[in-house]
Amino acid sequence: MAVLRVRHCGALVYCRRAPPRCPACGGDLRRAGLTAAPVRLHCPFRHGHSQPRAFLIRPSRGTFLHDYDGHSDLHVGITNSKGVVYHYDQEGVHRAASGWEQSISIPLVQPDMWELLQHWDNLLEEFSLEEAWLPQRYEEQQHNCFTFALALVNRVRCGRGRQPLSKAEFTERFLLPHTTAAARYLRLHRHLAHSDVLIVPLQEQEQQEQQQDCEPAKHSLLE
Ligand SMILES: [Zn+2]
Repeated sequence: MAVLRVRHCGALVYCRRAPPRCPACGGDLRRAGLTAAPVRLHCPFRHGHSQPRAFLIRPSRGTFLHDYDGHSDLHVGITNSKGVVYHYDQEGVHRAASGWEQSISIPLVQPDMWELLQHWDNLLEEFSLEEAWLPQRYEEQQHNCFTFALALVNRVRCGRGRQPLSKAEFTERFLLPHTTAAARYLRLHRHLAHSDVLIVPLQEQEQQEQQQDCEPAKHSLLE
């Protein structure tokens, strides 16, 4: 289901199908020009298995669209070049070819990182065989899926001469912006599942955006 946004008369109108008249003021939208043209919102979810060499996030249970409430537990993993997801839990490291069809995806390896592109699959495979990721080492709070994924990211960062990211930095810079944007999209999506439009005064929307500061970081996790 697409979510469209129309800007008119100091309001943002969210809808699934662009209405002929503005639901806020009743004005004719077809004559309102380009500024009132409907814009399709970017869906924050990707088919994880078609995202090579990426950091993936999904809810621990269920899917974003059906089950995520903005606070539910999240699970993370890292894909190899073929979209197989390496993720760690109480059973050890899994190599999953399904189950990540609706994920937030953060690309890790940029096209100009030649060496990493070539060695990524071996690196991931060898890393996942290390003792730290045996099932008995798993601990729900301190040694979990995030520990695994962040340790791999930091291993690569250090190999490239970068400082490792702390868990807090990682969460603040890379995780929260994405989950906040996803939660906002989901609120719109759910609202529009049972009503035709949502009208948000522009001022209110801008204030929200400033408070949440929620544009996902554009730079790579490995830079
Ligand atoms: Zn209007």
